[in-house]
Amino acid sequence: MSWTLHEPTLDVDAGLRPTHVKVDLDALADNLGAIQAHLGPQVQIMPVLKANAYGHGLVPVARLMERLGAPCLGLAYLEEGIRLRQAGLSVDMLVMGGILGSQIPLFLEHGLIITASSVDKLTAVEECAAAMGRRARVHLKVDTGMERLGVHWYSAEKLLEAALSLKHVQVEGIFTHLANADAADLSHSRLQLERFEQVLDFYPRHSLPTPLRHAANSGGVLQLPESWYDLVRPGILLFGVYPSPEVQRTIAVRPALEWLSRVVYFKVVEAGSPVSYGSTWAPDRRTRLVTVPVGYGDGYFRAMSDRAQVLLRGRRYPVVGRICMDQVMVDIGWDSAWNGDEVVLVGRRDGQEIGAEELAEWAGTIPYEVLTNINTRVPRVYRCERWPELTEQR
Ligand SMILES: *Cc1c(COP(=O)(O)O)cnc(C)c1O
Repeated sequence: MSWTLHEPTLDVDAGLRPTHVKVDLDALADNLGAIQAHLGPQVQIMPVLKANAYGHGLVPVARLMERLGAPCLGLAYLEEGIRLRQAGLSVDMLVMGGILGSQIPLFLEHGLIITASSVDKLTAVEECAAAMGRRARVHLKVDTGMERLGVHWYSAEKLLEAALSLKHVQVEGIFTHLANADAADLSHSRLQLERFEQVLDFYPRHSLPTPLRHAANSGGVLQLPESWYDLVRPGILLFGVYPSPEVQRTIAVRPALEWLSRVVYFKVVEAGSPVSYGSTWAPDRRTRLVTVPVGYGDGYFRAMSDRAQVLLRGRRYPVVGRICMDQVMVDIGWDSAWNGDEVVLVGRRDGQEIGAEELAEWAGTIPYEVLTNINTRVPRVYRCERWPELTEQR
């Protein structure tokens, strides 16, 4: 079993940095398989890999998904698609975010699918494609209750109609996004789906073929079979994390990411001697502290100060005092630890587990932000037993 470095971010070998992230690509493959098994063969999966694949590393995860036969990848931004094309990926990619007119030529040049949310944008795409002698591939976006991107469901017909007359635009899909699919109360999601149905009715009413329909994020995949349509768009679930504490866990998945570091210093601190910036914490007895080279400059939220815990030698210990930019202190009581000992920030050891969900609770945020916040200073290493070539550096 070996782990290899991908995308070194500071141009140094990962071995020099005790703090790193391990991504188990086999776990991602298993999660995709578990989701597909739950959906059945009629529903396709578009893995959503925005924000550096939820912190797991865009290119290696995208290569895995391409290898696993994903029909299309879901991205937020144009530059994520360009990055993947430059890395040699040829799979379809839908950029789900909003677009600027000036970006349209790049979409066409790199063969990326555009999200169109208005007649104006669609017309701009048509003009650009005509000028370039290309055919633009588009999914139409309908807003059914998120108020973010998309034409409102009550005025969507204009957009659907306009799309029919364009010679250089191929409408391949139509989608909406659910605002509350991971909640216990699914009434708003059901209302959104009803509105989406009203919009989709346009196609049979005009005896036209319906483009690929999609609506479900991870919450929809887990809780709302009526949101699955032709294709689903799971993000966080693919990475083995549930979108909310209350969501029904109808599919078993496991985390693919571990965030690790090592002890680099050890000291004995006297009772009453305050620790770290602001002197917010002091031990009430003589104790042993270890220093770990990770901090908010790596994305280990400062808001977790005096709340976070880590695993060391199979036990949980508290992070004490303020979290610094590059270091944290851990109180190990009168236990022993040595320089070089592994410290688990996120991961599982000896029956103990610290998940992204728990960090989210300590930081007052959601696991999505915990994962996407692990920044580029932290090297990622990969393991894939099924396709070892996917972990080779390219
Ligand atoms: C981020 C996103 C998703 C995936 O959401 P998860 O909750 O991570 O599954 C799906 N669709 C759109 C439009 C998104 O922006």
